[in-house]
Amino acid sequence: MYYYCIVCQGLHDERYTAGKIFKKGYFIDDTGTGIKFHLGMCDPVAWPR
Ligand SMILES: [Zn+2]
Repeated sequence: MYYYCIVCQGLHDERYTAGKIFKKGYFIDDTGTGIKFHLGMCDPVAWPR
């Protein structure tokens, strides 16, 4: 599932990006498709090393 990152202002795939997804916020694609993505924030600092 993809989410819209408010830090990068772009989409991330949650499988490959550590971070937080806001369950109540949505970003609605404004290109006319009407697809909704959850809003989130990636957190590269939290990635396992
Ligand atoms: Zn991000």
